[in-house]
Amino acid sequence: LRSGAGQAGAEMISGEVAAIEDRSGHVIAVRLADGRRIGCRFLVNAAGPAAGRLAALLGRDLPVEPRKRTVFVVDAPDAPRDMPLVADPSGIWVRPEGSGFITGYSPPEHDDGAADPADFEPDHGIFEDILWPLLAARIPAFERLKVTYAWAGHYDYNVLDQNAVIGPDPDLPNFLYANGFSGHGLQHAPGVGRAVAELIVHGAYRSLDLSAFGYERIAAGRPLFERNVI
Ligand SMILES: Cc1cc2nc3c(=O)[nH]c(=O)nc-3n(C[C@H](O)[C@H](O)[C@H](O)COP(=O)(O)OP(=O)(O)OC[C@H]3O[C@@H](n4cnc5c(N)ncnc54)[C@H](O)[C@@H]3O)c2cc1C
Repeated sequence: LRSGAGQAGAEMISGEVAAIEDRSGHVIAVRLADGRRIGCRFLVNAAGPAAGRLAALLGRDLPVEPRKRTVFVVDAPDAPRDMPLVADPSGIWVRPEGSGFITGYSPPEHDDGAADPADFEPDHGIFEDILWPLLAARIPAFERLKVTYAWAGHYDYNVLDQNAVIGPDPDLPNFLYANGFSGHGLQHAPGVGRAVAELIVHGAYRSLDLSAFGYERIAAGRPLFERNVI
């Protein structure tokens, strides 16, 4: 992707956006933490779990925050190698990965909360206390297993409705959102990338009308719930 973008003329610049300049209802430049200033005709907020903090640099209220999720890698010799991804209503999921399986757990809303952006320490406690009992109850072949590795990441969690926020800010039309995928952004990436490119190049959606995901519903507090977040 990176080399394709480069061949098409994109220039990659590494740095942290620390401030955003706007004038007369338009974004005009970003300031990087090292002091560099980069002018822009459009600015796309693609900051993942940090999207809410990036929008706040412009005084915009975007209800996207980091939510920590731990993924456990397990050996389970009795479990079926050819099983599909299984997502259980209890909040657990499991699927084959390499020579073993990966599994995780999303807590109910009342037990969840914003993560410290610097905290990537796996939450080992949930495996013994919550995940394994639920997993073994659903699929007894996972009663015998061994955790071989664990890692943690942050969901780009839309607190309002767990759904994507895509398109221009109504008050800053050259500031575009591509945020809030709430743990499903890899699957959405090709469609969202194309949609945002169409908005920039053509000023309108061409392939798929994604206006239902616009920021307007956020400003109005009108949720468009995604109920199948795992
Ligand atoms: C444990 C886990 C499992 C997941 N499983 C799946 C899955 O099975 N399927 C799926 O579709 N999705 C999954 N996801 C979600 C998916 O990873 C995200 O939705 C997706 O990565 C979002 O892509 P993005 O490009 O919007 O943001 P990111 O990939 O998070 O990228 C954001 C980028 O912005 C940069 N950034 C942030 N702030 C600034 C700033 N101020 N200045 C400059 N740069 C900045 C960050 O450094 C980062 O490089 C999972 C996530 C986790 C944590």
